[in-house]
Amino acid sequence: MATKRDYYEILDVPKSASEDEIKKAYRTLAKKYHPDVSSDPNATEKFKEIQEAYEVLSDPAKRQNYDRYGHEDPTMGGMGGFSGFSGFGGFEDIFANIFGGGRRSDPSGPRKGKDLSINITITFEEAAFGVKKPIHITRFEECSTCGGTGAFSRQDISTCTRCGGRGRVIIEQTTFLGRMQTETTCSECRGTGRKIRKACETCHGAGRMKKDATISVNIPAGIEDDQTIRLSGQGEAGHNGGPSGDLYINVTVKDHEIFEREGNDIILQMPITFSQAALGTTLEVKTLHGMVALKIPPGTQTGTKFKLIGKGISSQTTGRTGNQYVIVTVVTPTKLTSNQKELFQKLSKTDETAGNKWSDRIKRFFSNK
Ligand SMILES: [Zn+2]
Ligand SMILES: [Zn+2]
Repeated sequence: MATKRDYYEILDVPKSASEDEIKKAYRTLAKKYHPDVSSDPNATEKFKEIQEAYEVLSDPAKRQNYDRYGHEDPTMGGMGGFSGFSGFGGFEDIFANIFGGGRRSDPSGPRKGKDLSINITITFEEAAFGVKKPIHITRFEECSTCGGTGAFSRQDISTCTRCGGRGRVIIEQTTFLGRMQTETTCSECRGTGRKIRKACETCHGAGRMKKDATISVNIPAGIEDDQTIRLSGQGEAGHNGGPSGDLYINVTVKDHEIFEREGNDIILQMPITFSQAALGTTLEVKTLHGMVALKIPPGTQTGTKFKLIGKGISSQTTGRTGNQYVIVTVVTPTKLTSNQKELFQKLSKTDETAGNKWSDRIKRFFSNK
């Protein structure tokens, strides 16, 4: 950090200076180094330094802290002993307060158009594969009759004579520092720098018109629910030649009847029967990319997860492709035909005679107690 000059030294006052002496010294120096009047090449920097010193020394509490701790005031939160201004913005504020403004962004100059936002809902498949969607909006667009100038014809536009087309003028103001020259928005042309003799008959001089527009939006494959797409420059037309705003499209993705989604992966819950689980089978499984044959090995337990590589979503933004996971659930039958009942009874007997290892272990556990 550059070594900071002593505040008393900056204002050229003794440490014992009274409030009045400090104020007087500040006025003299501020007048001398005001960037609008000073020819000193470092005027802005010096002026800022003077402002900072005055900000501290004119406040009894801040001055006391400064006298005690210098620039390393611990009560100032480690900001180099100075927190009176928060960056250049703070300086600008004080500048504006004293000199009557004119430095802030001004409402009659070029301004960016308003941002717009719209909600759309797409299907699960549209999100997976991407889709081109037409979107209907109403927005302010540049008037096509006058091309945004607001004038009836080119000949009706002239340069403002008061400001010479600059949109800004220097005015003289009386402040407590004396007479100051300040730059401000031209009141004649309201900052546009132009005068219009005859206004455009379509937009009545506004240069913009409310219009219905249809925009084709490319929704990239792999978009997720609740994501937003920004279309730069598709918002409302700007003011006085400023750029257009942006259009934000908030995307909602509908749930699928059977598929669930985890990032780029697709999850499918698949019920299978007892006999399919026990004997094994080949299932026809639905994927986003069509039907796929999935081999279920004999002895498959409920909750087993099978992976179909590359059968998920190919994300256009990340370039990655997900998989489909098939989770099987063995369904216990609730209604049996008499034939089925007979078969299950037979099966149950074989379970006992063959000695199901697991149930044997459980029986032993209880009998040992
Ligand atoms: Zn027009
Ligand atoms: Zn003007």
